[in-house]
Amino acid sequence: MTLNLSKYKDNLLFVPLGGSGEIGMNVNLYHFDGKWLMVDCGSGFAEDHLPGVDMVVADISFIEKYKDDLLGIVLTHAHEDHLGGIQYLWNELQCPIYATKFTKCFLKSKLTEYSLPNLEIIEMNTSKEFKIGPFDIETIGLTHSAPEMQALVIKTDAGNVVHTGDWKFDPKPLVGEASDQKALKRIGDEGVLALVCDSTNVFNEGVSGSEGDVRESLMNIIADCPKMVVVTTFASNLARLESIIKAGEKTGRKVCLAGRSLHRMFSAARECGYLKGINPIIDEKAIGKYKRENLLVIATGCQGEPLAAMSKMINGIHNSVSLAPDDTVIFSSKIIPGNDKRIFKMFNSLAKKKIEVITEKDHFVHVSGHPAIEELKEMYKLVRPQICIPVHGEAIHIHEQAKLAKSCGIKQAIEVENGSMVLLSKSKSEIIDTVENGYLAVDGNYLLPEDASIFRVRRRMREAGIVVVSMILDSKLHLASLPIINTPGLFDEYDDADMIKDFAKELSDEYHAMRSKSKGDLPDDKIRSFTKKIIKRIIKNEVNKIPLISVNITKIV
Ligand SMILES: [Zn+2]
Ligand SMILES: [Zn+2]
Repeated sequence: MTLNLSKYKDNLLFVPLGGSGEIGMNVNLYHFDGKWLMVDCGSGFAEDHLPGVDMVVADISFIEKYKDDLLGIVLTHAHEDHLGGIQYLWNELQCPIYATKFTKCFLKSKLTEYSLPNLEIIEMNTSKEFKIGPFDIETIGLTHSAPEMQALVIKTDAGNVVHTGDWKFDPKPLVGEASDQKALKRIGDEGVLALVCDSTNVFNEGVSGSEGDVRESLMNIIADCPKMVVVTTFASNLARLESIIKAGEKTGRKVCLAGRSLHRMFSAARECGYLKGINPIIDEKAIGKYKRENLLVIATGCQGEPLAAMSKMINGIHNSVSLAPDDTVIFSSKIIPGNDKRIFKMFNSLAKKKIEVITEKDHFVHVSGHPAIEELKEMYKLVRPQICIPVHGEAIHIHEQAKLAKSCGIKQAIEVENGSMVLLSKSKSEIIDTVENGYLAVDGNYLLPEDASIFRVRRRMREAGIVVVSMILDSKLHLASLPIINTPGLFDEYDDADMIKDFAKELSDEYHAMRSKSKGDLPDDKIRSFTKKIIKRIIKNEVNKIPLISVNITKIV
């Protein structure tokens, strides 16, 4: 049944299309007075069921239908899970983008390699309310692990919504201002219908910890390192970058950056007035001039990304930096669930090379940028919403925050999924429908639905390899020669050559028998399905596997 949206023309609606069911890929929509506003347009990491794909973005077919009424995209901050989808989805969206100076600068430098006509980024006024159609927007600066994170107060005649974005309360944030709790309280006094809130760390007791304390700890740890130090972290965490650079300076080390996203972040930060009070960093190609004990390298790839600087150093294929025994590698980052396997693989490779590994598990080298339970409670107290809508989490995080919000006296909590359409009203708020939603896989230059048959094929190839059978048939559809069988990923072309030849003979005999019995014409698809059946049986008997089978038929006339 198609949704009759005209019925809700005057209503305030909230529709998450991404980020409510996973941590990543945040895309949220607000509707009022017939117009739509998008908050964030992020990307997410692909899971194992999409072989060959690193990234996914949200299926936005729903809003494409209302493209003419989409007034803009407001970006809360410069993290990939909030803006990484823009370069892939831009052609379908084509509306103004609103961002702070830093987020704009970062996005622009990231988009230089893509040709995106008509892309317009408007610098948001963070000191004064502004209008986007029927939405009055006020921004409130909150601390996060990226600078200039802005919570949005979306004011409409149907009520006010506070969309928190990613946040924490940190008395010592080091870069940028501390979270503006006064403004949150003032908005609370004005009356808030709904709080749409970050759920990432809802299972963490207490508070998330201070960046200032991490800086001190990093200084002490680095001071004790005997040889070269490599620190890998999230490039977007400017406060952490500054801490690491300062720790390097204080311990008499030259600092260099390794990895494209670090350079991009560093220059965007400089352009916007951040990272000012530090000495120049050296070019990574110049590190050979310095003694190992006088070097500190900041590297991308703390999540084990195979093409990032950290992985390249570990695999000995980095152009400028090579690791040696007694060096120290500090993972100043969280081990994100899902990436743990490849991160632990890096720890093991380093240990084998006699390189010291320091992580958040054994030293105080990282704090999260998301609110723990006590911070969430504080947020509820300040904003005092009628309704809490947890987002930025998997179903379990969303469910947990809904329980927490209710236990703190918030009247209603609505547990959304991607695609939930929520009617927000002072009298009655509820999920009224589910709209089209899903994931699109970024497959090289293409965007493909995650259920595209190509991924089923790849999974089959990954699990059991592929068998390619090439058959040459004469004018009477008899085999002109023995079929050629190739088995990449299943059998070795050389070591198993005799066995593969036996398969070809067996197939040839079966085919001859079948051809002799069959009268008249034999369509190609019948030949193909017969061949597949025989090959499947032979392979299953041999190795108990079911590979992907492809049959090529060539006919000699
Ligand atoms: Zn973030
Ligand atoms: Zn986020």
